[in-house]
Amino acid sequence: MADRRKVLIAGSGPAGLTAAVYAARAQLGPVVVEGEPSSTSDQPGGQLMLTTEVENFPGFPDGVMGPELMTAMRAQAARFGAEMVTAKVTRLELSSSPFGVWTADPDAPEPAYLADALIVATGAQALMLGVPGEDRLLGYGVSTCATCDGFFFRGLPIAVVGGGDSALEEALFLTRFAERVTVIHRRDQLRASRIMQQRAFAHPKIEFRWNTQVTEVLGDGKLDRLRVRDTLSGGEEELTFSGLFVAIGHEPNTAALGGQLELDDQGYVRTFEGSRTSVEGVFACGDVQDHVYRQAITAAGSGCMAAIDAERWLESRGE
Ligand code: NAP
Repeated sequence: MADRRKVLIAGSGPAGLTAAVYAARAQLGPVVVEGEPSSTSDQPGGQLMLTTEVENFPGFPDGVMGPELMTAMRAQAARFGAEMVTAKVTRLELSSSPFGVWTADPDAPEPAYLADALIVATGAQALMLGVPGEDRLLGYGVSTCATCDGFFFRGLPIAVVGGGDSALEEALFLTRFAERVTVIHRRDQLRASRIMQQRAFAHPKIEFRWNTQVTEVLGDGKLDRLRVRDTLSGGEEELTFSGLFVAIGHEPNTAALGGQLELDDQGYVRTFEGSRTSVEGVFACGDVQDHVYRQAITAAGSGCMAAIDAERWLESRGE
């Protein structure tokens, strides 16, 4: 028998957990399907579990470590009665209300939950380069998480691919361990914020390789070289590195939606009038619907909006 809930929240990053705090305090008894442990950001806590220090979340004048922030948010939601379930949403049935939510076998005849209102907060995850050798050496020199893996590269040369804030954040963190950090960027200008650029340019261990693309990850069981191409001359060469950190952006986690919600032209869930989606009773918040701001604080803010929208919607139906 499916477990019927007033509110089910899919995802447990800052958006999902803030929605959980608000929905729990509104006595809606939310269940949070928080994801499963993995090396990517669809795990409990989301992308902040893969970051280092968060310096721009208000209320923490000295910064806070991403995982610590998420542990605190989870404890806050649990304190008000939100129930956490360590599982992934594998299928949703949104054609009729209450909505069906499957968390294990998507072909099971019955959903695990029936939800009157659904909050989608499944976030986004790291993009990969898609070059030969990258998959094979993932976990053997290739990583998307400096916090998780930086320690393994003490005294070694490391490359970081990308030109945004993530790439520079990873590069700066890796200077704690690496002999040198080379940021490989496909253009000659960074996309990152000015403050991060200033820090990276000023760091003696960080160097930049401009107009360069990684075309192959090389190594026998363990990464030891990268093949790169100069985007201006087309010339190729091999560079010696022990690690490659890929930090080239993200894609939204929308697979479980099965095409039932309207997406925007970049594949993110389209929201209207706050957090409403194209299906009445389904709300979306955080990085799964935002490719513009993508900050922990904006995700948290939109999670609050989704919980309030869901509460008012339930109320308007007399529930
Ligand atoms: P991003 O801003 O989208 O930057 C992605 C970078 O990767 C770009 O420089 C892009 O190059 C490059 N890239 C994309 N595809 C590539 C490919 N196939 N091969 C090589 N390079 C590729 O992503 P992000 O750095 O993850 O940041 C996302 C958002 O989170 C931003 O709004 C950022 O400000 C925010 N963020 C903030 C902080 C912070 O404040 N501490 C930390 C992390 C992230 P081009 O420049 O040529 O397009």
